[in-house]
Amino acid sequence: MKKTVLVSGGAGYIGSHVTVELVEAGYDVVIADNMSNCDDTCLRGVREITGRDLPFYRMDFCDAKAVEQLFSDVRIDAVIHFAAYKAVGESVAEPVKYYLNNLTSFLNVLDAARVHGCNVLFSSSATVYGEPDKLPVTEESPRQSATSPYGNTKQMCEDFLRDSVKAYPEKIRGIALRYFNPIGAHPSALIGELPRGVPNNLVPFITQTASGIRECLSIFGNDYPTPDGTCQRDYIDIVDLAKAHVCAVRRMLDGKMESGYEIFNIGTGRPVSVLELVNTFERVNGLKLNYRFAPRRAGDVTAIWADPSLAERKLGWKAGRSLDETLKSAWEWEKHIRGIK
Ligand code: UDP
Repeated sequence: MKKTVLVSGGAGYIGSHVTVELVEAGYDVVIADNMSNCDDTCLRGVREITGRDLPFYRMDFCDAKAVEQLFSDVRIDAVIHFAAYKAVGESVAEPVKYYLNNLTSFLNVLDAARVHGCNVLFSSSATVYGEPDKLPVTEESPRQSATSPYGNTKQMCEDFLRDSVKAYPEKIRGIALRYFNPIGAHPSALIGELPRGVPNNLVPFITQTASGIRECLSIFGNDYPTPDGTCQRDYIDIVDLAKAHVCAVRRMLDGKMESGYEIFNIGTGRPVSVLELVNTFERVNGLKLNYRFAPRRAGDVTAIWADPSLAERKLGWKAGRSLDETLKSAWEWEKHIRGIK
């Protein structure tokens, strides 16, 4: 029998790409989203790519009754939880809003999983490593105290999952995937990142500068102790990242986990500086970007990249798309949504 995967936050950037990969891998997918931070662009894109009208629940995961009702109505074999606020700066300004939303929604998922029995995949982040002492970071690298309420919610939710698995081993198994920097869009250009307002993240800011919505990209800091003075990150293609979820779901559902709770880094293992990323974007898309160097941004770490070897060994997953392809896809998506030929 086909297994059913619930994707909370399935109308968003990562959730929509994961939904497509799950459908292509043969899973039944149920999407749930409160649409608080997106419109239906990606839902329509998912429909077009998969040719399927997937069950969709418009609901808020902070509503415990609604979550319980969904788990009672539908037999869910695994849930992938994306439904959360994600703006670091906003979380500093509005910590209560972030804690209320991100913690409550995940606790409701865990409570339903505890009652009904369900595998849980949590979308965590490399932010839990803070400014690492040693690079690349492995899953054993120490977590550092979070510098924002957003980062703190990622750490706390990891702990909620770990403790729940320990307490209810017959009911819950869990995997946390620690994403590095997800970028790019589906090769169809039908789904991608749609930030509201001024983008905080580098790649949407680049594509919006290229399309003329933003006048100039500020590169935050060129005096870091890195080869070219700009920060280094591990940019992971969104489709590759989505495929990692399929591997993790399969591992849970096929009973392949070696313990009830596992953590995997999802990155490429390759550091790329801001300048390298900008230069690559210009080269592969045949564009010139208007950029300038600006002061460092508060809270940025100098450099972080993954050791993704555990995911390769245990999940059988490895990043595949090149940075060139990924940055082309980011520009194709931007052109698609802006109607640029
Ligand atoms: N960055 C930048 N200009 C921008 C946005 C980001 O120079 O307008 C830099 C930022 O300082 C960091 C890198 O791009 O070094 C990635 O930032 P992003 O916000 O995308 O992800 P983060 O690593 O902070 O989660």
